[in-house]
Amino acid sequence: MRLSTYFLPTLKETPAEAQIASHRLMLRAGMVRQSASGIYTWLPLGLRVLKNIERIVREEQNAAGAQELLMPTIQSADLWRESGRYDAYGKEMLRITDRHEREMLYGPTNEELITQIFRDNVRSYREMPKILYQIQWKFRDEVRPRFGVMRGREFLMKDCYSFAMDYEGAKKAYEVMFNAYLKTFKRMGLTAIPMAADSGAIGGSLSHEFHILAETGESGVFYDVAYDELAAKDEIDLETLSKLYAVTDEKHDSSAANCPPAERLKEARGIEVGHIFYLGTKYSKAMNAVVPGPGGETVLAEMGCYGIGVSRLMGAIIEAYHDDRGIKWPEAVAPFKVGLINLKAGDATCDKTCEDIYRSLSENGVEVLYDDRDDRAGVKFADMDLIGLPWQLVAGPKGLAVGVVELKNRLSGEKVELSVEAALARLT
Ligand code: ATP
Ligand code: MG
Ligand code: MG
Ligand code: MG
Repeated sequence: MRLSTYFLPTLKETPAEAQIASHRLMLRAGMVRQSASGIYTWLPLGLRVLKNIERIVREEQNAAGAQELLMPTIQSADLWRESGRYDAYGKEMLRITDRHEREMLYGPTNEELITQIFRDNVRSYREMPKILYQIQWKFRDEVRPRFGVMRGREFLMKDCYSFAMDYEGAKKAYEVMFNAYLKTFKRMGLTAIPMAADSGAIGGSLSHEFHILAETGESGVFYDVAYDELAAKDEIDLETLSKLYAVTDEKHDSSAANCPPAERLKEARGIEVGHIFYLGTKYSKAMNAVVPGPGGETVLAEMGCYGIGVSRLMGAIIEAYHDDRGIKWPEAVAPFKVGLINLKAGDATCDKTCEDIYRSLSENGVEVLYDDRDDRAGVKFADMDLIGLPWQLVAGPKGLAVGVVELKNRLSGEKVELSVEAALARLT
């Protein structure tokens, strides 16, 4: 992609409405624009990151044995009356009436719809268990939409639902998802702490929230300092991890058996990026989702549900990866891997070298954003630092005169001068 033609409306000034770094940077880097309170347009650069996050989530869901489907965003109120949640859900639900005066809603979550699909289409224990998921937009009419995409009203969520014949089956699905979540967040460069949580309005009795620690997080959390020590290691040891004390504030109990002494207990803020629940038969009972068992008896499906805030994750990643100058994308989610800077557009050698590099990287499947604009070096460096691509490759007349370009790593700040060939070898 050439920057001269790319739709990348960056901002020099810090937008006044943005209170936290990720929101400021997403606006400044031309990734999103607000169209109404808590509702955003995803501009090309932002959309590329969203798709990358989505891809990682999808790959890990598939690897965990979940199957993707896609449910509509608009649902019927009658379906929600079956579970009793139409009235119970309250003002966060956006209610809509169609031309025939039928009551509809924009889904804030999908337990009812998936339970209906399951109930109407699974006919035997032989088809069990099932784990189904989608990545779809949700709408919640939040009281206080804020922090950009972090708490939007319209947001992208991965929601997954498991159906099993018994508690053992449900527990197995829960554990599989638990592990898949840790892998998912890790691939994005995040250390998510699974916190024992309240199961709230969704119901059920076993629940974990996955939190990214950040000062700007909206949730209060308590955890054993051993987590910080674990996080520093490369491999997460699940066995150890599951025994450690980590809870959201509504669950905190200093008299709990595994609650560490005050000097080992940390109180912090977290961003909730995922939430998993064991639901039991709450929905299958209310909506009569039964499966004939081996002896012909009817068995209520044992369910679980598992959410990931796909669009919120973008904010969480930026909170974890930025500095004064801009974003520092982890490679796995970066919108492009390389930012190629031509320091003197119009200079024959610079142009030729950059065109060659651009073609060679592109042919090797490396995603490059080529700054071919006729602009000052300072502007180019500032923009590249702002949008935070992992690698900056800088070609200028002085370097090229002695056969070198400069390769900068945005995360570490490390710069090296090397030949074009060596730079290409490093990047492909
Ligand atoms: P919160 O406590 O932040 O309001 P929640 O507990 O209501 O979130 P869940 O019902 O658990 O959310 O939904 C699953 C996931 O969807 C959350 O863990 C979060 O990552 C994401 N999510 C929820 N609400 C929003 C929102 N308004 N904007 C962006 N992402 C959201
Ligand atoms: Mg909420
Ligand atoms: Mg919550
Ligand atoms: Mg939650």
